[in-house]
Amino acid sequence: MPFANTLDDLLLKRSPLVHAFEQLIVPKSDAEFESMAQISRTLTLQNFGRTMRLFVPLYLSNECINNCSYCGFSRDNPILRVTLSVDEVVAEARQLSQAGFRQILLVAGEHPKFVSRNYLADCVRALASDFSSIAIEVGPMETKDYIPIVEAGAEGLVVYQETYNRGVYAELHTAGPKRDFDWRLDCPERGYEAGFRRIGIGALFGLWRWQDEAIALAAHLEYLFKHCWQAQISVSLPRLRPAVGGFRPLFSMSDRELAQLVCALRISFPQVGIVLSTRERAALRDALAPLGVTMMSAGSHTEPGGYTRQGRERLHRTVRGRIVAPEFENGEDQLAGGQFEISDERSPAEVANVLRHRGFEPVWKDWDQTLSSA
Ligand code: SF4
Repeated sequence: MPFANTLDDLLLKRSPLVHAFEQLIVPKSDAEFESMAQISRTLTLQNFGRTMRLFVPLYLSNECINNCSYCGFSRDNPILRVTLSVDEVVAEARQLSQAGFRQILLVAGEHPKFVSRNYLADCVRALASDFSSIAIEVGPMETKDYIPIVEAGAEGLVVYQETYNRGVYAELHTAGPKRDFDWRLDCPERGYEAGFRRIGIGALFGLWRWQDEAIALAAHLEYLFKHCWQAQISVSLPRLRPAVGGFRPLFSMSDRELAQLVCALRISFPQVGIVLSTRERAALRDALAPLGVTMMSAGSHTEPGGYTRQGRERLHRTVRGRIVAPEFENGEDQLAGGQFEISDERSPAEVANVLRHRGFEPVWKDWDQTLSSA
């Protein structure tokens, strides 16, 4: 039975685990919240020790055939676009490798012409010897299209549902194949079938009531733990950030609510990986780290070529699928458009130092995979 059935029944029927999770995200007194935080810290220590996996996103392309109201890459946004060549991807990755990273997330907009499965497999293959863990975050694909990417060396697949509310999803995804809610919802299982052994899901907080989004996310996690049991499952809790297009959050989620959600997820799913990105500001990331977070990005850029300015001589605009040469205004910074603004702008070394100072061991390399392939 696909997860869609569980999701559509959630109002009427919730598993005992999801019901207990729901009780954890209702408003709490300070004392109740502190007690949750204590349990969450203990469970995180028991399951993950004092480690924090550090990874970095590498944007391959900002071409996209979808219109998602909240995203800077939406096809109708007149941003400068580029798809990096495989050599340019390697040059960007070399810089990240020199900064210490061995875990990388390859990100791209959805555009089958520019971001094909062969292109993705070529990128992964070119990076496989320098990175112990390669994950992709791209438009959903068929199982058969994922297989060559897995065979090239990718082990992780990240796909956020954005919002689990079908009505809100339909309103915000106004054009392109992403309008198909169920196709996206089933993507983790297709990836698992193809051989991905790290699966990441998430919701974009700010599109719907955070509590409802969180309950659906918890139900999805429970489903994936049962159906993709050989994979390590992780969850991301991104909150909306400013982006080209000027979309504003429709619903708020405070810092404390985000912290409570981290604790509720850890208590309900002691073994789930919890990812915190540079969307959040430095001080909040430092405060959330001990509560249950297990993976953090650092030093991120959200534009292709953002680390070493690769691809800048091929920047263009894409109008109705046609590539149009840009006219630059005097002094305009010629950089590809980013997906959204980041908030924590510290370098990877700074983030690692702060983590060490707080008693964590920053983990740059994915030892799980190294040991299992020995
Ligand atoms: S969220 Fe993804 S699919 Fe939507 S416009 Fe941005 S890159 Fe494209």
